[in-house]
Amino acid sequence: MPELPEVETVRRGLERSLVGRRFDEVAVGRDRVARRTSRQELRDGLTGARVVEANRRGKYLLLELDTDAVVMVHLRMSGQVIIDDGASEAPRHSHVTALLDDGSRFLFVDPRTFGEVVVAPRSRIDVLIPEIGRLGRDPLVDGVDMKAVTEMCRNRRRRVKSLLLDQSHIAGIGNIYADEICHSAGIRPDRPAETLSSRSRRRLTDAIVDVIEQAVELGGSTLADSQYVGVDGQPGTFQERHRVYARTGQRCVSCGRGVIRRILIDQRGSHFCPVCQR
Ligand SMILES: [Zn+2]
Repeated sequence: MPELPEVETVRRGLERSLVGRRFDEVAVGRDRVARRTSRQELRDGLTGARVVEANRRGKYLLLELDTDAVVMVHLRMSGQVIIDDGASEAPRHSHVTALLDDGSRFLFVDPRTFGEVVVAPRSRIDVLIPEIGRLGRDPLVDGVDMKAVTEMCRNRRRRVKSLLLDQSHIAGIGNIYADEICHSAGIRPDRPAETLSSRSRRRLTDAIVDVIEQAVELGGSTLADSQYVGVDGQPGTFQERHRVYARTGQRCVSCGRGVIRRILIDQRGSHFCPVCQR
């Protein structure tokens, strides 16, 4: 599932190839993609509108239109936003297809259809998508500092990974990056947050910033299912730098001694090195 670095890579791609463009002919395939509004509203809201800004909060893409409306795109499990030259037939599972005024084409492709596209006046976005208002700090937009991490951990018995996954503290971190962040910080993901020393909280703060920034620089992580790609169809390469995620049973590349273990935290497979994470 795309997390902050993947969605940020898509956002940057849209900034390059969608901002300034106008949606012309718009077709919406499945009802489910527009489930919070309707296919008609989605089609009408996009048609003739020009994109003026491409923003993001956590895993939510927010495109500002010149009509005072906002387009929210959430990729969820398998959504992709593709901008191509429109020369070939749209791929299967293209639920939103729009020709743009420069001859290129916008596609929202989603084989599993958990993703969605909502277009609504800015004033209605908070009502239609209340979870955006509940998002915590975005590591790239707002920054994450020691103070924020200390507040997140204070008096909390919850496990560190569980807090990292909770979008109301820090927005955009999912299963892959929570594991990689804990490893980079040398902290076991199941450690109760309130037991972290100030030195550990410092390391956790630095790890959040470093891991996210590095992953964005490498275009995010594309796993074996290949579902995540940038707007140009290119996969990310941060998966080559994963140190613990999905490496169960392999030797730890950081310490060379530990063997990566997998445990369940909040029903999510969680990977760590028992030697270098305490
Ligand atoms: Zn290790």
